[in-house]
Order: sequence, then C-alpha cells, then structure tokens
Amino acid sequence: MKRGKLIIFSAPSGSGKSTIINYLLGCNLNLAFSISATSRAPRGNEQNGVEYFFLTPDEFRAKIANDEFIEYEEVYKDNFYGTLKSEVERIRENGMNVVFDIDVVGGVNIKNIFGDEALSMFIMPPSVEELRNRLVGRNTDSAETIEKRLAKAEYEIGFADKFDKVVVNDDLESAKAEALSIIKEFVEK
Ligand code: 5GP
Repeated sequence: MKRGKLIIFSAPSGSGKSTIINYLLGCNLNLAFSISATSRAPRGNEQNGVEYFFLTPDEFRAKIANDEFIEYEEVYKDNFYGTLKSEVERIRENGMNVVFDIDVVGGVNIKNIFGDEALSMFIMPPSVEELRNRLVGRNTDSAETIEKRLAKAEYEIGFADKFDKVVVNDDLESAKAEALSIIKEFVEK
C-alpha cells in the first residue's frame, strides 16, 4: 500500500483555515486529521481524542523525555502543543494522507523533516484590516484580545514565504476551490 502524504496548514487566527480544512476533509481525498497533543484546558465542547489529546504539563513533559513528538512547542509556560509520532504513523499506515493544523513554526519544521512527502499551505487573510473586521464581527473576543491576535497575525504572515503554497482567502468559495485543486494534484501525483 502507498504510504500517505502529509499536508500542513498554517494561518493566522480568523483567516478561515478551519473552514477550509473541514471542507477538504469532506472531499474524498483520503485525508485524515492529525490530532495534536496539548496541555491547555479543553474549551467548550472539545473532547479528548477528538480536537486534541489533552494532557497535563507533566504528562506532556514525560512524552517529550520519551521522544514521542515529531515537533512540539511550549507557547508559554506549561502551555504545550505537539505532534505525536504515533498519530502520524497510525494514519499513514492506514494509507491515508495526514492533515495538520499547526502554527507557523511547527508547520515549517514538519515540512523540513518530511521534504517532498509533505506539502505546506499558508492561508493568507486578504489584509490585516480585513482580519480585524472579521475578528470584531465574530464578537467573541475583547478589544485587547483582538489587538493581540492581530499583532500575532503580522508575525505569522512573515512566515508565509517559507510555505510551498499560499492561498489568499479574500473569497471563501474561491479559496476552497484553489486549496482543493492544489491538494488534489499533490495527493494524486
Ligand atoms: P488553539 O489553542 O486555539 O486550539 O491552538 C493554538 C495554536 O496552536 C494554533 O495556531 C494551532 O494551529 C497550534 N497548534 C495546534 N496543534 C499544534 C501542534 O501539534 N504543534 C504546533 N506547533 N502547533 C499546534
């Protein structure tokens, strides 16, 4: 059986990344989502083993010591995110292509590790101004949180040229179609 390929998505918060990923997962491309481990607390309806594997900081550290991660980051003290080797192996052994939703640093690291077996895609918001409008429109964040996210977005956009493909999401339907055609070509080649 052909081993699955790796498809990495990174993007600033509010750029439509999750919507595009969910659309692609439903497109019959033999894609499976890589569930990351994190030591942050579950939010809302999040469930262990669905959105993330939720670990305590000490459990996370034990897995680091045990070399169980392909990559991980401590975003701030005791707040870890990482990709488990076991998760990627499980998906690829089933012949499926692995989809990652990870931050820009993790995305660039995975691409460097896997080379041509991986395709990295950056979803670009049309502009920082438009991102601000979307975050304000979502009405879920305080003004302070929005400013923090925007500063982070500018930092993340600085990584875009390290990705294989950049899809600008100024129109969601066209961004979905463009991402689909890129991924289709990559997994079928
Ligand atoms: P959230 O806490 O909102 O679910 O995610 C925060 C950030 O962590 C997002 O940018 C997300 O893409 C990133 N992230 C999720 N899983 C991983 C991972 O396994 N590794 C890395 N490096 N970042 C991750």
